[in-house]
Amino acid sequence: MFIKQFLLTSFIFASYLSSIFICLSVDATENKRADTIITLFKTSKPSSPQQASSLLQELKKTISPDDLLRQKEYIRAKCWNQKVETNAQIEQAISFANEQLDIFNSPAPSKITIDLTLCKTTYQRLLGQVDTTLQDLTNAINQAYIIEAPLLIAHGYSQRGTLHSYQGNYSASLEDLLTAQSHYESLKLNYWANINLGELATSYRRFGDAKSALKYQLQLEDIYIKEGKLFEANDINIQIASSLEQLNDLEEANARYRVSQQFLHDKQPVISADMSINIANNLISLGQYSKALTLLQQAESTITPEYNAPYSFLQLYLANTQFKLNNYPASLAALQNAEKAFIIDKNQRGLSQVLELRSNIYQADKDWQNAYQSLADYLKVHLAQDERVLTKLNAELRTRFDTDRIKHENDLLLQHANDKEIQLHMLQRNKTMQIIIITLVGIILILVSIFAYKQMNHKQQYRKLAFTDELTQVANRRETYVQAEKCLTLCKKSQKPFSLIFFDADYFKLVNDELGHYIGDQVLICLANIATKVIRNGDIVGRVGGEEFIILLPDTDIEIALTIANRLLTTIEQYEWSTVSSNLTQTVSAGVVRYQEEKDLSELLLKADKALYEAKAAGRNHVKVYL
Ligand code: GH3
Ligand code: MG
Ligand code: MG
Repeated sequence: MFIKQFLLTSFIFASYLSSIFICLSVDATENKRADTIITLFKTSKPSSPQQASSLLQELKKTISPDDLLRQKEYIRAKCWNQKVETNAQIEQAISFANEQLDIFNSPAPSKITIDLTLCKTTYQRLLGQVDTTLQDLTNAINQAYIIEAPLLIAHGYSQRGTLHSYQGNYSASLEDLLTAQSHYESLKLNYWANINLGELATSYRRFGDAKSALKYQLQLEDIYIKEGKLFEANDINIQIASSLEQLNDLEEANARYRVSQQFLHDKQPVISADMSINIANNLISLGQYSKALTLLQQAESTITPEYNAPYSFLQLYLANTQFKLNNYPASLAALQNAEKAFIIDKNQRGLSQVLELRSNIYQADKDWQNAYQSLADYLKVHLAQDERVLTKLNAELRTRFDTDRIKHENDLLLQHANDKEIQLHMLQRNKTMQIIIITLVGIILILVSIFAYKQMNHKQQYRKLAFTDELTQVANRRETYVQAEKCLTLCKKSQKPFSLIFFDADYFKLVNDELGHYIGDQVLICLANIATKVIRNGDIVGRVGGEEFIILLPDTDIEIALTIANRLLTTIEQYEWSTVSSNLTQTVSAGVVRYQEEKDLSELLLKADKALYEAKAAGRNHVKVYL
């Protein structure tokens, strides 16, 4: 039981330690340029397709193949920035999204699959695949909620709102777009918030509230012009023109369309031609039919059937112009083209206009049979449309007054995001605290070690000072006697011999008197050094008086002690004393004794002193043994 608990605790501690080291280890490899481009793609859209493709190329080059995280970001960015001017290109873009979805397919939702789905839907929508697109968008939004990805939730709502608006489901559209708007604003993603605001304005306009639309659009135009975003400003200009059109300010609307038409003329001929279609429609309303016809016929060379949506309106307006100019067969032919295109787009609004015009043509042509038939068709579509508009009108009113609920949901979501942020913040702070604690502990350990080391050094120094003679660096008097006692005890115990040499500098007083105290000191240092060199390992030299030294010779018989003493005297006598002071000579006299059952050390030392006295008396530079 105890062992289990111990193992568990050790395991937890080990995991804790490893987590600390993981925190300390360096993050994923840095790639600042790639991250800048990725952020650019996330927070905005490149200002032109050319810029997008060069940024994508740069991004691809910058990321290494094993940097999977950034590879994913590259694929996401690539999906969103495909060239989709023709149907074939759109199909290709969808295939790319599908291929990538297959690669990243997993049972659990992930950011990349949701983003790829959202991206795919933008292209599906262009092909008029409304139902699947709606379903895909709803799934993507739900999945984004599951993994709590606010940006993807916002994108999902914004796109679904745009699609609803396009289909004429204004209440659903406004609900989605308002939700997206609040998400973008809380995420402080101005670029996307502005794009969404534009969609919101368009939705208001389509709903018939051109005034509200115009208010938002003028606001946006102002923002974009101030930021120098000409493409965006131009988009808004087109939308403003559309709102003005609805408010019946046709001259002003056309003036704005012309500005955009000129701006886009070389850059995006298809959209520029689309402008011509709008201008022509307004000219029809102003009664300028032949001018309208010229514009529409010019546009026909650019707006071919593959551009289905603009093509449908081009043909409708062509039919209208021809009708006004009394060219009924041409009008009917154009109307047939328009009808086909509106059916493809599932555009009921357009279709109802086709049927109404067809009925008018037949009436004018006095073809009562066909006039009746097309009128009946028109009424059927129109009534269905009316009914839908009415239900939507109710729903729209509900939506507008139900904003409290949306706001509440958004607040909850925001709260949730805030909580997450706080949690993350706390985790981050814990990590920082751990690092600080580890660093502090490290610093304390280093300081303690330094302190302990210094203490040890001091202690050693103190020890040395306590045992050593400061001048000669051999054992001092006290230490010499302590060591001598030890030798004596050991010798008594082991029955091994023990001898000692007591030596004294000869006529040392003269050295001091004639050459000074300093030279005297140098002589003492030399004597200690020579003695240290002469002795063997285990022997001890000590300074026991001013110019008196003792050499302890454990495990040494008297003969060997005598030999050592003689060697000492000879070495000292032959030393180059002139290196200390010119004309200096120095000798020593020594007394040698052997332990012979003396009762204590002082008795032995006394004998040594006697031997030394004898040596001095013999004329100095002599060795005498106490027998
Ligand atoms: P002897 O041959 O009989 O030993 O004559 P001596 O002059 O050596 O003996 P004495 O005892 O008369 O003189 C010892 C001198 O040693 C006295 C003192 O000035 C000197 N002395 C003692 N300690 C030191 C020291 O630490 N440094 C120096 N320079 N001289 C010291
Ligand atoms: Mg002396
Ligand atoms: Mg002396």
